[in-house]
Amino acid sequence: MLQSNIRSVLRDRLHAVEARLRAACQRVGRPRGDVTLVAVTKTVSVEVAGLLPELGVVNLGESRPQELWHKAATLSAGVTWHLVGHLQRNKIERTVPLVRLIHSVDSLRLLEALEQDVRQRQRPIDALLEINASGEASKHGFTPQEAVGVAPRLQELQHVHIRGFMTMAAHEEEPERCRPTFATLRNLRDVLRGKVGPPHRLEHLSMGMTNDFEVAVEEGATLVRIGTALFEGLP
Ligand SMILES: *Cc1c(COP(=O)(O)O)cnc(C)c1O
Repeated sequence: MLQSNIRSVLRDRLHAVEARLRAACQRVGRPRGDVTLVAVTKTVSVEVAGLLPELGVVNLGESRPQELWHKAATLSAGVTWHLVGHLQRNKIERTVPLVRLIHSVDSLRLLEALEQDVRQRQRPIDALLEINASGEASKHGFTPQEAVGVAPRLQELQHVHIRGFMTMAAHEEEPERCRPTFATLRNLRDVLRGKVGPPHRLEHLSMGMTNDFEVAVEEGATLVRIGTALFEGLP
């Protein structure tokens, strides 16, 4: 596919996603500005990912640290990087300086290791706790009960600032069936807001992917992570 064709395909898909985001916000009386689109570029080349900023999308996400390093080496100006997948502790040092937000803090061990690392560099990092809200054994993350248990420890962190929660719903043919998972995440956030104070501000809910982002927005998502709807079939 020619570069100019790829650009016009991407532009059309962005308009379609944007229209669906706006409609979902409208249905529940939320301003569109409450929801940030994070384009998950894991299936496309750095060349295709590089077309996004000029189309108005500056928040890009990767699920694998090495792929994020690779793309961020080429695309840094004008791009805000998000890590949305599992972070191994031996990759913290190289990843933290590149990203604005880590969506996927999925264990206490990782959280403690991040706190250690960031203490040494004297620059705070924003992160979300990944929650297994759908109850599937295959999913990473804290169960909602574990997250409530971790709350007192959060209050001792100085350098990792917890900004909210992330979840992945089970894959469902019918997106409506993801609604309880998203509602669980919102309820958890509301409960923990009463237990956790500054420097943490639990304002973010990172939930909703291609299959289910409209339901997630209706349930309070502030960050949606979208790959397939934008990039399917692109190189
Ligand atoms: C791949 C990925 C996405 C994007 O999923 P799509 O269904 O392609 O939109 C979102 N979040 C995470 C954590 C991912 O790994």
